[in-house]
This record gives sequence, structure tokens and C-alpha cells, in this order.
Amino acid sequence: MNVKQMFVDANALLEGHFMLSSGLHSNFYMQSAKVLQDTENAQVLGKMIADAITKQGLDINLVVAPAMGGVIIGHEVASNLGLNFVFTERVSGKMTLRRGFEILKGSKIILVEDVFTTGKSTREVITLLDSIGVETVACASIVDRSGGTVSFNVPKISLLNLDIKSYNPDSCPMCIQGFAITKPGSRFVNRG
Ligand code: ZN
Repeated sequence: MNVKQMFVDANALLEGHFMLSSGLHSNFYMQSAKVLQDTENAQVLGKMIADAITKQGLDINLVVAPAMGGVIIGHEVASNLGLNFVFTERVSGKMTLRRGFEILKGSKIILVEDVFTTGKSTREVITLLDSIGVETVACASIVDRSGGTVSFNVPKISLLNLDIKSYNPDSCPMCIQGFAITKPGSRFVNRG
């Protein structure tokens, strides 16, 4: 199964010249939720990550993901591994374990995300778990959009590596070359 093609087929990965909601310009626009809305895609991707974990012989007993992005894929991975799944969420900016979820001290977990971008939320979950005596054995994602540069102090598994760049409008090479810009999810716009 070609993961990139799966994203393209779901209109979840567009290549071109895009204005992101942040105002930055990018050479790709990706929306992993659009791939995962197809439950069969979610199942396939979950199995692919689970198989990669099994292949590496990682000794884990729980799957953890940060909400929202990691919830669907994390659940699928856990289901394939026959393990429980819990998620963390941000409360007032701080990564937290809520909803009565308890992780036993000494547990070995794999952390699952939909996309690694800067790795910020992933590192926050690792730190949170570390503080309660839980070891993150590895991190996995469907997509690593950092061009492979994001790293953690544990093994990393990603099904698809993309080098997605973002630029300030003033220094965007695609603007300099005069390419028309698209605002995903909105009408087509030309930068005046
Ligand atoms: Zn641009």
C-alpha cells in the first residue's frame, strides 16, 4: 500500500503553493483527518504501524497518543497490537492525562501521532510520562513532515516522509517565481 497515494486519493495531500491558516506559505497542504475519515484507511494505516512495531520486536504494553491528532490512528494501532489505548490532552496549554486514565509506573509505551511536524507535542507527552515513571520505548506516526529532521531520544517509525516547507510571504520562493497561490478550504486567491 502506497501511503502517499492514499493521501493524494483522499485529497488530503495537495502539492503546489498554499497559504496556510498561519499566514505562512507552503509547498504542500496536508490534512491527515481527511485520510482517516475513511475508516478502511484508518484500519490499513493502523495495521501498517502495528506491523512495523512488531517487526522491531519492541516490548510495549500500552499505546498513548496526544489528542486530537493522534487519537484515531493511536486507537487503530492499539487495536492491532491487542493493547489498551489512552490519550493525553492539552489543558490550559499543558499536556495532561485526564478522564481517569491511569498508567502504571514502569509501563512501556509507544507514542503514536498522525503527523510529526516539529515534534513539540510528542516531546511534551514523553516528558509527562517520564514524570510518572512511564517509559516511552518508541514514537510512531503516519507522516513525518519534517523531511526526517525531527528526532526524539527513542526510535522513530513513520510510514511516509515528506519535506514540507513553510515560508514567510516575503521570502517565499514560489511567490518570487510568480506562482498563483491557493488557500485550501477556501476560494482560490491570487496574491496581489
Ligand atoms: Zn508564496
